[in-house]
Amino acid sequence: MSLPAPRPDVQALDGYHSPQLDVPVRLNTNESPFAPPPAFVDAWLAALAAVDLNRYPDRAATDLRAGIAKHVGHPAERIFAANGSNEVLQTLLLAYGGPGRRALVFEPTYALHSHICRITGTEVVTGERDADFRISPTEVGILVGSERPSVIFVCSPNNPTGTVESRATLEAVLASVIDRGNALLVVDEAYGEFADYSAADLVADDVPLVVVRTYSKVWSLAALRLGFCIAPPAVVAEFEKVVLPYHLSAATQTAGVAALAFRDEMDERVHTLVAERHRMDEALRQMPGITVYPSGANFVLIRADGDGRALWEALVERGVLVRDFSRWPRLDECLRITVGTADENDRCLAALRELLTAERV
Ligand code: PMP
Repeated sequence: MSLPAPRPDVQALDGYHSPQLDVPVRLNTNESPFAPPPAFVDAWLAALAAVDLNRYPDRAATDLRAGIAKHVGHPAERIFAANGSNEVLQTLLLAYGGPGRRALVFEPTYALHSHICRITGTEVVTGERDADFRISPTEVGILVGSERPSVIFVCSPNNPTGTVESRATLEAVLASVIDRGNALLVVDEAYGEFADYSAADLVADDVPLVVVRTYSKVWSLAALRLGFCIAPPAVVAEFEKVVLPYHLSAATQTAGVAALAFRDEMDERVHTLVAERHRMDEALRQMPGITVYPSGANFVLIRADGDGRALWEALVERGVLVRDFSRWPRLDECLRITVGTADENDRCLAALRELLTAERV
């Protein structure tokens, strides 16, 4: 017996890998180090107890979309929610990408953008970032004109570099997308709340812009799998056509609504993490043998003067797991450190200080 071959393009794909190791300090996947408030869990479970579990959930996720809409200051018609922002991106590419269409990404960036493109049969066109990992509106304009992409991804703050694009850049990019017509600009703001600037207020009913957010980071709910986007209602209507019916469980919907009542607690977590990021940034800049890139997210990218992979391994030996990007194009010898609790950050900084100082001697 033999098993049938999958689609040739799927057969050729590499799956998405993010290795996990059992170590005391895990700073490799950009989650929040803080659990959500216990009162949130109580409120969620109370809401869940009132759900008719024998019935399908509200397909339109009415309460959740209304709650998110109020939170972000847009009408509910502009909100689409899914199982993590990854599912939002997949839905977007099912509707606006696909065979015969192209998406533009600026590397190095979030690997899932091009991965989901490939899964959906969307051709990937790659643009470059400058030495500071910023995108150039001029280059975007040229590529949008020559490559005619249907979707343009801008990740800000960018994963894994932490780079925040300025409002001027995003406005210029949006202008060239509008100018060219027939394309959607997607601003992935998975880390948007950690930065000073968001593109959310540029979304309008007749503007080809989608801003994507997640509950996985600032809301301390990565396990829940909930993300959303703010988009023109006509675009949301296309997403609704391709997403599976009842894709968002009642458990997810009630949790998403319940979390919104804890905005102050979530904001506090963001402030703590941003303060910790500043502290780590300053401490890292005092260390010999590395370059530190400015970050507007809940992680910091560093580049080792020496062997980045060896540094990653030595950190693991000291019980600290960060993300190894040292063999990625344009990220030679780079490691990405998620901002954790003050104690986790101290342990990471101490291990790095020891290793980098020893290397110099
Ligand atoms: N976008 C970016 C830039 C990310 O880094 C991540 C998570 N690593 C996501 C989207 C997906 O997040 P989720 O599916 O958990 O919402």
